[in-house]
Amino acid sequence: MRKFLYVTPVILVVAFFTYKYLGKSVDPISYSGIEQDLVVLASDSLVGRAPFSVGEKRTLAYLEKRMKEIGLKPAFGDSYLQPVPLVEICTKLPEVLTIRNEKYIAGADYTAFSTILSEKVSIENSPIVFVGFGIDAPEYNWNDFNSQDFTGKTIVVLVNDPGYYTDDSTLFRGNAMTYYGRWRYKLEEAERKGATACLIVHDEGGAGYPWAVPSVGTNMPEYYLNNKSLANQRCKLKGWISADAARRLFASCGKNFDMLKYAAMFRTFKPVPLGAMLNIEVQNCHKEDVSYNVAGYFEGTVRPHEAVIYSAHWDHLGIGPVVNGDSIYNGASDNAAAMAWMLSIAQAYKAAEPTERSVMFFAPTAEEAGMLGSEYFVANPPFAHRNIAAVFNSDVILFLGKFADVTITGYGHSQLDSLVEVEAKKQGRYICPDPNPENGMFFRSDQLPFLKAGVPAMFAKGYTNAVSLGKDSTRLAIDAYWRNIYHKTADNYVPSRDKLQGVVDDAVLFFNVGYGIANHSHFPEWNRSSEFYVERN
Ligand SMILES: [Zn+2]
Repeated sequence: MRKFLYVTPVILVVAFFTYKYLGKSVDPISYSGIEQDLVVLASDSLVGRAPFSVGEKRTLAYLEKRMKEIGLKPAFGDSYLQPVPLVEICTKLPEVLTIRNEKYIAGADYTAFSTILSEKVSIENSPIVFVGFGIDAPEYNWNDFNSQDFTGKTIVVLVNDPGYYTDDSTLFRGNAMTYYGRWRYKLEEAERKGATACLIVHDEGGAGYPWAVPSVGTNMPEYYLNNKSLANQRCKLKGWISADAARRLFASCGKNFDMLKYAAMFRTFKPVPLGAMLNIEVQNCHKEDVSYNVAGYFEGTVRPHEAVIYSAHWDHLGIGPVVNGDSIYNGASDNAAAMAWMLSIAQAYKAAEPTERSVMFFAPTAEEAGMLGSEYFVANPPFAHRNIAAVFNSDVILFLGKFADVTITGYGHSQLDSLVEVEAKKQGRYICPDPNPENGMFFRSDQLPFLKAGVPAMFAKGYTNAVSLGKDSTRLAIDAYWRNIYHKTADNYVPSRDKLQGVVDDAVLFFNVGYGIANHSHFPEWNRSSEFYVERN
């Protein structure tokens, strides 16, 4: 039966979900409604929406007010707010780390953090072992750890996965990064294997960003979820070394980094002890505080314990150094626009006939700090994971007007692709995969904790083909956004009816897709080839 469902033709899958959709009015989704929310959420009065700031208080108050107006029920008992316990930790690294008489400068050659909640964290004589990609993936028949014991060891691993470096489409997902390629996975696997420390060798192509990205966090405070796993962790130090530093480290141990990196591309690879020890002591200070997730829902009429969830993080970066006379990081594209997108979809549900399943609208906190709000929500969910039919997340919506495309980040993972395709076609649009799947964008927003919990989740939007620009100029506009606007004070909203039309289309599209799912008993399924595959129905 499972096998049959897996090979079910797209058309049948789509029929499952759409036959009950009878062309509900989606008038509540309008340019002016979306703009009203966007203008408030991106305004200076919310001072960049940083967790714990007055900006948090104002943002929460606005979202609560809007959810009440729309008629959503509070998601957490009688409250729209879910407290998220966070801890800010600042790790001070020794300026110079010495291994085998070679010196490594903090920030320039290596960077690391410790999430141990004590003032001093020391590692003594921990044997350093090169573990290839640091991947244990039974479904790909790949285990770099070779069942050895890594308790107390310091592991050095490569970023990304073997498919990326070999460009072999039969290895993992070829050029498209799997979750096994993300730094986050490497550190989680190091913890599972009992390693004392984990250092990831940076590679600009493989990571999807330059060395400046991890190194800028050196000795800077970071937020983490203040939960049990933090108290019980075994991996005391996590971080990166630059590729040059890795070459020096391996050479000082009589090994050739590039040759071992090559060997790591094959299943025959075995862990290689470098014969050197890690000795390091770091200073840690920490501060505990609580931020809040916001969520409300419409209760399903037939299966209220099942849900479709829409999400858009509310937090951004707050206030920073003055640039061009501006110090407020308004985060209009990131992520006020997606909140406005989500609220307009809620408005459309309000106007439509009630759905069989519940429909929830979720604005997590601390996405910018590593999806901490959504991670906490998924660990403490209002709906059991198996009862969440689908999640639609949005993030970084560009103001480029109408789009001809719907770009699906993480294309190929689940039946959600074909459901979106049907609705996209009704708008005269086409679906396409993320143009840079090697960057692992699928694992860099709030869908990730849901994926890891086995819930099909999607991050999709008009992105690569703005109608007024065409593909090539859209590419330039996207590049300019990431270079000049993303996570800068320039991420503002300048009112323009034309430029918001793409958000209106995306809201209509994802209302339609979600409405179909919310009125059916079938659960959208994972594709077998996805690393997040679990049996659903
Ligand atoms: Zn964002």
